[in-house]
Amino acid sequence: MTLRLIHSKVAPRTVERVADARLPTETGEFRIIGFRSLVSTEEFVVLAKGDLHSGQTSLVRIHSQCMTGDVFGSVKCDCGRQLQAAMRLIEEEGRGVIVYQQQEGRGIGIINKIRAYALQDEGADTIEANERLGFAADMRSYEQCAEILLDLGLRSVRVMSDNPAKIQTLRHAGLEVVERVRLEVEPHDFFAGYLKTKKEKMGHLVSVA
Ligand SMILES: [Zn+2]
Repeated sequence: MTLRLIHSKVAPRTVERVADARLPTETGEFRIIGFRSLVSTEEFVVLAKGDLHSGQTSLVRIHSQCMTGDVFGSVKCDCGRQLQAAMRLIEEEGRGVIVYQQQEGRGIGIINKIRAYALQDEGADTIEANERLGFAADMRSYEQCAEILLDLGLRSVRVMSDNPAKIQTLRHAGLEVVERVRLEVEPHDFFAGYLKTKKEKMGHLVSVA
């Protein structure tokens, strides 16, 4: 009876693992794993390292794609530095996962993000800019990222994130979040204002000088 009750709480699968390969990087040796959504056209890229089925608590990060920060090294935000810091921590620890969620610009897409940057050039902050373009401040959801972590065998995690919504989603999905790990990134004058907005308007747990 107990087993049946537990089983009945398992939600239907909404993602599937479709490819898995080695990925040597500047930071170290990882696996790169492709997942796709069974309910939309969304695809997810996962960087993973170490034995994820060991039952030990693992470092995880849900990293929302930021082409400008991750690829071009933009200092309008701290995304690129956070991604690098997360990879370094996982490499040092020898185990962990980054789910790279391809929802550019909090879900509005790269072209609209550039439009928002143009508004920011005229003085709007990141949230005002999105709202003036007709988008909600944040259009992302993280349920499938949590499902991916469970699929990979994780049960107990240390989350590298300042975003309470991500942590909440992981807990809700049944992952035990034992710790929130601060990613120490070098502050940069350019994104001080952006971090302040994230803290004051979006409830992120960022320390702002
Ligand atoms: Zn960014």
